[in-house]
Amino acid sequence: MAAGPPIHELHFREAPLVETDLPGPRSQELLEKQREYDSGAVAYPKNVPIALEEARGATLRDRDGNTFLDFFAGIGVMNVGHSNPYVLEAVQEQLDKYVHTLDFPTEARIELIEKLNEIAPGDMPENSKVVFGGPTGSDAIEATIKLAKYNTGGDGLIAFRGAYHGGSAGALSLTAGKAYKKDYTPMLPDVQHLPYPNPVQQGISEEEAVDRSIDAVRDMLENPYGGLANPAGIWVEPIQGEGGVVVPPEDFLPRLKEVAEENDIPLIVDEIQAGFGRTGQWFASDWVDVTPDVMPMAKAIGGCGLPLSATMYRDELDTWGPGGHIGTYRGNVPAMIGGVRAIEYIQEHDLLAHARELGEYMRTRFREVAEDTPRIVDVRGKGLFTGVEFADEDGNPDGDAVKAVRHACMEDGVLVWKAGPHGQVLRLLPPLVMTRDQAEIGMDVIVEAIEESI
Ligand code: PLP
Repeated sequence: MAAGPPIHELHFREAPLVETDLPGPRSQELLEKQREYDSGAVAYPKNVPIALEEARGATLRDRDGNTFLDFFAGIGVMNVGHSNPYVLEAVQEQLDKYVHTLDFPTEARIELIEKLNEIAPGDMPENSKVVFGGPTGSDAIEATIKLAKYNTGGDGLIAFRGAYHGGSAGALSLTAGKAYKKDYTPMLPDVQHLPYPNPVQQGISEEEAVDRSIDAVRDMLENPYGGLANPAGIWVEPIQGEGGVVVPPEDFLPRLKEVAEENDIPLIVDEIQAGFGRTGQWFASDWVDVTPDVMPMAKAIGGCGLPLSATMYRDELDTWGPGGHIGTYRGNVPAMIGGVRAIEYIQEHDLLAHARELGEYMRTRFREVAEDTPRIVDVRGKGLFTGVEFADEDGNPDGDAVKAVRHACMEDGVLVWKAGPHGQVLRLLPPLVMTRDQAEIGMDVIVEAIEESI
């Protein structure tokens, strides 16, 4: 029997329905209170001024009863949709039993590790260990930094331009965006950001872009005057999310893995945004048959939005003794059972294939629009992870165009997000449970918004 209801039963409705000006009066009331009490750091409602009431599947409802189609899934968290009943049923049962268990064994914990072993890339299954740490992606990245340093004795970290790995001190050091870190320097010493292959931005061929990146990494590691004395590892996103949904050419990751192997340092593949079916494979590394040495995961792993992170790593790196990596929140059992249920839901409903098919449909529509819209300079992505890059008339990155498109989409009930160093990329990462009808209706809105806005 299939696990839980079919995807078309998960949502409030197929089409969005906006019946008030935005924000509506009841949303406005909460937005005003939030402005009064909440931190100045609050960001999303500044771009999407709505107050949420309920969410189901790929639909969100605001306090005024307007229903939106969700094309960003809480930034890649709600892969099996909001309030998926198959996930929530087990989570609620677990909430009644116990919630917080440090790292004592529980059935949910073991089941989740077993499930991760079922879906992990390459030969990771059965050759790996899993460590749970703090609940965020940044926590997982901190764990990877400690793990790499501990095992290699090195402290030099290699990352890439355009990277986003999180906001805590170590993760922020690996993150490339200057705006996130300029007020908090110095960061960790000896972090090097090398070019990520981004042929569109670099204006070169795919082959040249990969050569340029790999040569830079090799030079850093192998040139006696390369400058990095004690390397500990290489951190890479298999597809850069925040950096602009940049899909590197296929040979980049395999060649990077070779360089890491030859230099005896781990390759840490950050699957925090690209993992759990987002790209139409369990992990983006699967697209290019690369087995990470270390794989941090977060976001969708908790199944229903409960925070959880985990890092999977090769057995040989399992050198920590008891307490080698610490933290209070290492045993959020409802999130763990949520993760198990979400993986089962994806398996039983064949959502990887669905994500591939729906993503191709969306990118095909965008490419059709791009034929008549020269200001769309690239359409890229894998599965339900899509980026559409905009430039102005002079060919410069155009964040204003994306802002205008996002606003027009919202007015018609479709929520989309942005990415890229200048906000010039329209980023779509809808729940994998979005139906074909919803995708078609949503795409009609987005295409119209593009045609209207630029
Ligand atoms: N790594 C990647 C690739 C991410 O996209 C993110 C968040 O967007 C992080 C790490 C950090 O995760 P968190 O925001 O949960 O700390």
